[in-house]
Amino acid sequence: STLFQSVELAPRDPILGLTEQYNADQNPAKVNLGVGVYYDDQGRIPVLKAVAQAEALRAQAGAARGYLPIEGLTGYNQAAQKLLLGKDSPLLAAGRTLTFQSLGGTGALKIGADFIKQLVPGAKVAISNPSWENHRALFERAGFEVVNYPYYDPATHGVDFAAMTAFLKTLPAQSVVVLHACCHNPTGADLTTDQWREVAQIVQAGNLIPFLDIAYQGFGDSVDGDAAAVRLFADMDMTMFISSSFSKSFSFYGERVGALTIVTGSKDESNRVLSQVKRVIRSNYSNPPTHGGTIVAMVLNTPELAAMWDQELGAMRDRIRLMRQQLVDKLKAKGVKKDFDFVLKQRGMFSYSGLTSAQVDRMREEHGVYAISSGRICVAALNSGNIDRVVDAIAAVL
Ligand code: PLP
Repeated sequence: STLFQSVELAPRDPILGLTEQYNADQNPAKVNLGVGVYYDDQGRIPVLKAVAQAEALRAQAGAARGYLPIEGLTGYNQAAQKLLLGKDSPLLAAGRTLTFQSLGGTGALKIGADFIKQLVPGAKVAISNPSWENHRALFERAGFEVVNYPYYDPATHGVDFAAMTAFLKTLPAQSVVVLHACCHNPTGADLTTDQWREVAQIVQAGNLIPFLDIAYQGFGDSVDGDAAAVRLFADMDMTMFISSSFSKSFSFYGERVGALTIVTGSKDESNRVLSQVKRVIRSNYSNPPTHGGTIVAMVLNTPELAAMWDQELGAMRDRIRLMRQQLVDKLKAKGVKKDFDFVLKQRGMFSYSGLTSAQVDRMREEHGVYAISSGRICVAALNSGNIDRVVDAIAAVL
C-alpha cells in the first residue's frame, strides 16, 4: 500500500469544470457565460493601454527582480489604500491603516483569515447566501466555522434586507462578517447607501468584525463611488479588514495583484499588527511577486497613466451596462413575457438571471450557451457577436 492509497478524488471546481466542458465542446456557436472575467467586444481579455505603457517603461529600465519586502511594495500599498479610503482620509494621516500587497484578493482574504484565527480563535464567520464560492472554503480551511447570512431574495431579484439584518443581530460578538463592498458576486444585487448605514450600525453595536471584500472596484459606478461602503465604515471609526483586488480592474488576473488593508485603532496598534501580519505572510509565501505590483504602482502613481486607466476602466463598465441594456431590450423584442428589467439594476460583471438549473442545462446542451447552474451569467462575457445567440437560447428554454 502507498501513502496515497486512501486519497479520495475531490469534486471538480464547479466553475472551472464548466470551462473544461466548454473547451471540449465542438459547437462553433458556443458561448461561455460561466466565467468571472471581463472580455472586450471581440471576446478577448483586454491588455489595458495604461498597463502596456507601464510594462514598456519597466522593460526599458531593465529592472532587477530582487525580493520585495514581506508586506510588498510601499508605492503599491499606499496607492491601494488611497483608492479604498480616499486620499484625504484622516485614517491615513493618523497611521491607522496598514496595507499588504497580496496574491490577489484571494491572498488578502487568506492572510486576513489566518491573522484573525490567531486573534479570535473561536470566531464564527458569516458569509452571504449565496457568496463567491471560495469564501466558505477559504475560511473553513483557515479553521473557522462558517455560517450563511440571508442575502438574496429570488422573488425580488434583490436583497432580503429584513432577513439579513435580523440574522446579523443574532451573531455573537467578535464574529466575522464578510461583506461584498460593491458588485456582489454572484447575484449583482447590492445594498443601498441607507442599507449600508444600517448594516454598519448593526456591526458596530454587535461588536462584530467587518471584513469588506471588494474585488470589482470601478465596475459599479466609479472607483470612488464603489468605495462608498468602505468609507462609510471608516467614517464610523470602525476597525476592519478590507480585501481588494486589481485582477478585474486592471484586467491583470494572472498577475495576482491584491491587497489586504487593516484599519486599526491607533498608530501604536498598527505597529504591533504589522509585525504579526508579517509573520503570517512570511510563513505562507515569504513575500509577494514583483511584476504585477510594480506595474499597478506605476500606473496609479503616474498621473497620466492613472487617468488613462480610469478611462479604460470606465469603458469596461460602460460596455457591461450596454450589454445589460441590450440583453433586456432584445429579450423584449423577441416577445419574451418574463420581466428581465432587474438585470439593469444589478451591478458589476454578474447577473443572477433567474434561470433554473434545468433551463441552464438546456441552454448548454441544446444551444451551446454555458452558464452556472445557479443561473449566474457573466454579463461581461456578452458581446455584439454572441448576444443574439444568447437571447435566442434564453427565449427557447423559458
Ligand atoms: N472576492 C470576490 C467576491 C471575487 O469575486 C473574487 C474573484 O472572482 C475574489 C475575491 C478573488 O479575486 P482574485 O482573483 O484577485 O484572487
